[in-house]
Amino acid sequence: TKWVYTFGDGTAEGTADMRDLLGGKGANLAEMCNLGLPVPPGLTITTEACNWYLGNARAYPDELAEQVNTALAHIGKVAGRDFADAKRPLLLSVRSGARASMPGMMDTVLNLGLNDESVLALAEGVGDERFAYDSYRRFIQMYSDVVMGLDHEVFEEILEDEKARFGHELDTELTADEWKQVIARYKSVIEEELGQAFPQDPQQQLWGAIGAVFSSWTNARAVTYRQLHDIPSGWGTAVNVQAMVFGNLGDGSATGVAFTRNPSTGENTLYGEFLVNAQGEDVVAGIRTPQNITEAARIEAGSDKPSLEKLMPDAFSEFLGICNRLENHYKDMQDLEFTIENGKLWMLQTRAGKRTARAGLRIAVDLAEAGMITKQEAIGRIDPASLDQLLHPTIDPSVSRDVIGSGLPASPGAATGEIVFTPDEAVEKSEAGKKVILVRVETSPEDIHGMHAAQGIVTSRGGMTSHAAVVARGMGKPCVSGAGNIRVDIRRKLLLTESGPLKEGEIITVDGSSGQVLRGSVPMLHPELSGDFGRLMEWADGSRRMKVRTNAETPADANVARKFGAEGIGLCRTEHMFFEDDRIVAMREMILAGDEEGRRTALAQLLPMQRADFVELFEIMKGLPVTIRLLDPPLHEFLPKTDEEIAEVAEAMKVEEELLRQRLEALHEFNPMLGHRGCRLAVSYPEIAEMQARAIFEAAVEAGAKTGEHVVPEIMIPLVGMMTELEYVKKHIEKVANDIMEEAGQKIDYLIGTMIELPRAAIRADVIAEAAEFFSFGTNDLTQTTFGISRDDASSFLSTYQKKGIIERDPFISLDIAGVGQLIRMAAEKGRAGRPDIKLGICGEHGGDPTSIHFCEELALDYVSCSPFRVPIARLAAAQAAL
Ligand code: PEP
Ligand code: MG
Repeated sequence: TKWVYTFGDGTAEGTADMRDLLGGKGANLAEMCNLGLPVPPGLTITTEACNWYLGNARAYPDELAEQVNTALAHIGKVAGRDFADAKRPLLLSVRSGARASMPGMMDTVLNLGLNDESVLALAEGVGDERFAYDSYRRFIQMYSDVVMGLDHEVFEEILEDEKARFGHELDTELTADEWKQVIARYKSVIEEELGQAFPQDPQQQLWGAIGAVFSSWTNARAVTYRQLHDIPSGWGTAVNVQAMVFGNLGDGSATGVAFTRNPSTGENTLYGEFLVNAQGEDVVAGIRTPQNITEAARIEAGSDKPSLEKLMPDAFSEFLGICNRLENHYKDMQDLEFTIENGKLWMLQTRAGKRTARAGLRIAVDLAEAGMITKQEAIGRIDPASLDQLLHPTIDPSVSRDVIGSGLPASPGAATGEIVFTPDEAVEKSEAGKKVILVRVETSPEDIHGMHAAQGIVTSRGGMTSHAAVVARGMGKPCVSGAGNIRVDIRRKLLLTESGPLKEGEIITVDGSSGQVLRGSVPMLHPELSGDFGRLMEWADGSRRMKVRTNAETPADANVARKFGAEGIGLCRTEHMFFEDDRIVAMREMILAGDEEGRRTALAQLLPMQRADFVELFEIMKGLPVTIRLLDPPLHEFLPKTDEEIAEVAEAMKVEEELLRQRLEALHEFNPMLGHRGCRLAVSYPEIAEMQARAIFEAAVEAGAKTGEHVVPEIMIPLVGMMTELEYVKKHIEKVANDIMEEAGQKIDYLIGTMIELPRAAIRADVIAEAAEFFSFGTNDLTQTTFGISRDDASSFLSTYQKKGIIERDPFISLDIAGVGQLIRMAAEKGRAGRPDIKLGICGEHGGDPTSIHFCEELALDYVSCSPFRVPIARLAAAQAAL
């Protein structure tokens, strides 16, 4: 088996297509070499080797050592050095690299190959003893931490101690001799703590690092990350071993990261940061504040530190050329890492850059309009769920701001919440239903769970490419990074600002678009839906087959949904129209009435309200289909509870409170969700369905006259399990329709259909279809009744199920295709068998979930219906499903 692939000197054994085998980093390093770009020579050990290692008690395959040594010899030849030769040492970087970027894994070991002997040669080679010993101690520190598992704080303590002893403030002030003393102490603490010496043999160092990369695939952080991002554990990671280049050889050297377009806005300008005389991860670590790469960015940022463009014009222009080349080659925005060693540019990494939803849209639209990709490709590139970021509020610009801190606008959008200082608190409080803002000095992969739980993130340290910034953008959460004028006192749980301290639990607002942190909560504005968003949505609409409707019952929701592009209402939950103050009393009267006459009196009060509501909805929807569902109240949600409420209803009904209490008692149900709701109510009290039908038909006539549109109401009967239930209710509705047509002297077109939300309905769908002109899958109840899991009580234990791997995803959020989905498939088939032209839709929560929408397309449903804010997500997901 070939376990090792080499690259360098303008050729490579791998290509970009081999990401499964070489990992993203390795495949792209190979590709850059093939393109003739300056890449330090190296080798990639395959993900298959990792799987072999993990599957064979952490042993290596037989041929691996030989293949690595052959490749090392090749690297040595290209680099003009030799790994085994302490006089001309080949120093290496070792990095992990999975198929998908995975911040949870071991990242990097630099300067591998240094030991007591080769450090002398390095000093002589570069003519800088101080540099050599600084490199050596960095290597010992990094290696001991990530390979040998010794906490880096041990070394930081020693370093602080020694600096104090020598009277230095900064690391850069230590002399070569002083570094030697630090190194001696490092070595002895390793022996003390680990009972073994720091390895001097480069081969031993290398294999230690390779094993550590492989093993890091199974560390707790990586496992959590994989769970959060649905990454299969069978992928494994590759290892990239590469000749070192030094960005810290003095003022002619530098290291940096860049995006070929702005990752926050998508603007087509090179965007990046670098540090002079720095090594590897110094830029992303956020310890020194980095400089801008381009002069334009420097001017815009108002920085007085020179740009790379000014400082190293030759390296800059070469870099600029490479950026364009890579973007054209990959046809996407790239995220690059580079090092300049004594004026010579080296490329260390390229990959598709992480970006905000806004930037993602702009880049996809720009690339499609420039003809670099097709419109279909542009549609396919946007994660529908990411649109959520664009639909979320921003701070109303007209209100005054109480700014308590400011930093970099690291991830756009705004959010308000209570201050928390640790990721665990963030999780705890958010599970308790609170909204929180995570405030940290800086973040690391250990904080991911807290970042997920938080509404927004603030750090007092770090740049635009710091961990907090990159991760927040990926998650679509507002983030302000590097807010230098605040201090985070973790121990006392205080956020120290220039205008005084804030305690844990106090409310702040993060504005990730401006980089400000505000005291308190602030009014927010809804987003603009034109521009790139509008363009992409237009393309998506041209590519999809399914219609997208909305679940709405208020004019406000219906209007929002129309703005978001809803093509009708798929579910109007009429019971929700009675929650308001003046109506709930009449509603309660109706429910609590002792006889039909009492019910009819209450219904007579409700009729004009219902009619007016429907007229408004029909007007807003301008002839688009509107599905109105007959009353489906889980009764307990409507019954009066407090003494005050009971007194109020008793008075309205003109009955004794005592009598009312008896009635309440009689209506009590043990399982209201499985109780007297849905069509069961209409079967018991057909006058309710009649009143609603009357309101609908009268409204259709009225709205039709007002708007000139042909209004065709779709009346939907809920919670049907038997065809006979449906037929019974239908008969009453048809009678009302005929009455009104006579009264109005005009014909009214309408449809009568049912929800399929009980397993029995799915099983008997062919028979039910004979009486139903449409089906709408009520996947909330269908999930509840198929699993036998109460939808209102599920959250308390389903998260445990997820943690324990019993279920992958919450079936109330993403459709359980294997189970509930099969019932839907069967019902769709049977429904079509019973009535070939039956209209099929979905109106449970799943109607707005991209994965579930793909399944709906597979079943060729006619439409999905979801809450207004998810309409754009559904439009895009439906388009992707149809591609
Ligand atoms: C459903 O059950 O999926 C549904 C849409 O109805 P409701 O959520 O109102 O029960
Ligand atoms: Mg339901």
